[in-house]
Formats: sequence, structure tokens, C-alpha cells
Amino acid sequence: AARNGEDGVRGYVPSMGQIFLRRFQLVTQFRQALESGQIEVHYQPKVALPGKRIVGAEALVRWSHPEYGRLSPDEFVPVVEATGLVDALTEFVLERALVRIRDWLERGLRLSVAVNLSVRNLADETFPERVREAFDRHGVPPGLLTFELTESSVMADPDRSLPVLRRLRALGVVLAVDDFGTGYSSLAYLRQLPVDEVKIDKSFVLGMGTDLSDMAVVRSIVELGHSLELSVVAEGVEDDSARDQLVRMGCDTAQGYLISRPLSEERFESWLWARTTR
Ligand code: C2E
Ligand code: CA
Ligand code: CA
Ligand code: CA
Repeated sequence: AARNGEDGVRGYVPSMGQIFLRRFQLVTQFRQALESGQIEVHYQPKVALPGKRIVGAEALVRWSHPEYGRLSPDEFVPVVEATGLVDALTEFVLERALVRIRDWLERGLRLSVAVNLSVRNLADETFPERVREAFDRHGVPPGLLTFELTESSVMADPDRSLPVLRRLRALGVVLAVDDFGTGYSSLAYLRQLPVDEVKIDKSFVLGMGTDLSDMAVVRSIVELGHSLELSVVAEGVEDDSARDQLVRMGCDTAQGYLISRPLSEERFESWLWARTTR
């Protein structure tokens, strides 16, 4: 149905039926999209504070859909996550990540890649063994791979996810809690999670410049993380003043548009090249 906007187009709002149809299409088209190269992995650099040394990148998926154009992962990942297809997505991203890490190692660069996990991976007791097999196959040291997981994905079924996390960690993979601060039970559970790193949710980092309470939240997460001997990463670092504040707070790592947007594999390579040869 069309809402009456000024031009009758801008106010267009899809009906429930259209939303369901589109979601249904995304699910049915996803595997084909993976196989035909419509799904790409982009990389967003992470730098060690206070300097600019690059330590790695987060892998973020993009879908160039033939009909709908460039789709945001916020639209299709939740839809794919509701189906078994997310296993294929994680495997795809993990394979790409391991190929990149291996390629960099061969050129003398030790960079890590962070891969986002879904709640289904954490409930899958066969997942750690498949990850181990992938490391062997690619000859990559597990310490160069980070898995990012949200607190709510762990807490959905802790009896299943905690053993999976412990086995992943025993392989030597780095584990990070993503979007930290958005779950309501954050502080109580962080201590019990078998993780190495905490990522401050970008909403707080983005708000730091204008909202004192966001600033206070960021500061307390940095302190809490350090008191638990965790490395602290800030995402959503968009300007110098946010970066300077994070440096003052002692935050370990920064990621955000200030450093770079997520880049295609080729563009990330040129970005890296420009950085490391300068
Ligand atoms: P996320 O894991 O929290 O990823 C960070 C998001 O913040 C990314 O959005 C990134 O592009 C964006 N971002 C980075 N720096 C800045 C900044 O300075 N300012 C602002 N405003 N945003 C910034 P993106 O790429 O759209 O991904 C959205 C979400 O989709 C991710 O949130 C993650 O939950 C999910 N996702 C992406 N790739 C994968 C994947 O391979 N597997 C799974 N399971 N989920 C994924
Ligand atoms: Ca993430
Ligand atoms: Ca995040
Ligand atoms: Ca998120």
C-alpha cells in the first residue's frame, strides 16, 4: 500500500504481505547467492591505540541482490539466522577469513580476522571440530582468528553454548563479546563468560561526543574489561575526539569510519598496501 507522501512515492510503505514475500525470497535465494558470488566478505580494519598500527579486521558480509540491489546484513542475516542456512554463511565467511590470514602470513603480515557467529553456531556441538579441521586445512594459527558473539546469543541457551565456547577457546581462538552494554545482564555475566575481548557497542561510542551518560558507559566498560583482564575494543569510532577520549580511557583497540569503512577484499588490500609501505 502507498502512504500519501508529497509525491506518492517517497512515502511508500511495503505491506506485511510484501515484507513476508521478500523475506521468503531471501531465504530461498540465499544458497544460490552464496554459490554464484552475490555474497561478498568485506573487511573493516582495527587499529591498536594509541597509535595507528593495524592489528586486523572484522569480516562483514554484503549481498548484491540482482533485484533488490546492495542489501544490508541487518536485513538478511536475521532472516538467514532463523534457518539452518546460517551454518553455510558462517562456513563461507570463515573459509574466506582463513584464506586471507594465510595469504597475509605468506607476505609476512600477522593480521587477525574477526568473524561474527550466530546463535545457531553456538548451539552446534559439532562446530568446534569443524573449525579445528578448517585451521588444519589452511595451516593458520588459531590465535589469528577471533569469533565475535553477542551476549544474548550465548544466553539464549547457556547449557549448550558455554561448552561450545570453551572448546573453541581451547583451540586457541580469540573470543569477543560483541555489542557489549546492550544486554541488560551484561555486568553479571561477563565475568562468567570464557572470553578474551569485549567490544563496546557502537551506540555508546557514537553518543560519546554529545551525551555524558554514553561517555560514562564507555569509561565503565573499559574499566570493567580491564579489571577482568580482557582486551577492550571500541567500534563506531567516527571522529578524532572519540578516538582521543578512548585513548585517554586506555581503550586497547579502535574500529570505525575514522579509520576506514568496511572495504571489499581488493580495496582492503590497496588500503593495507598504502599503509604498510608508507
Ligand atoms: P556488528 O557485528 O555490530 O558489526 C559492526 C557494524 O557497525 C557493521 O555494520 C559496520 O559496518 C558498522 N560500523 C563500523 N564502523 C562504524 C562507524 O564508525 N559508524 C557507524 N555508524 N557504523 C559503523 P554492517 O556491516 O551493516 O553489519 C551489521 C550487522 O550484521 C553486524 O553488526 C553483524 O551483527 C551482522 N553481520 C555482518 N556480517 C555477518 C556475518 O558474517 N555473520 C553474522 N552472523 N552476522 C553478520
Ligand atoms: Ca561484530
Ligand atoms: Ca558490534
Ligand atoms: Ca550488531
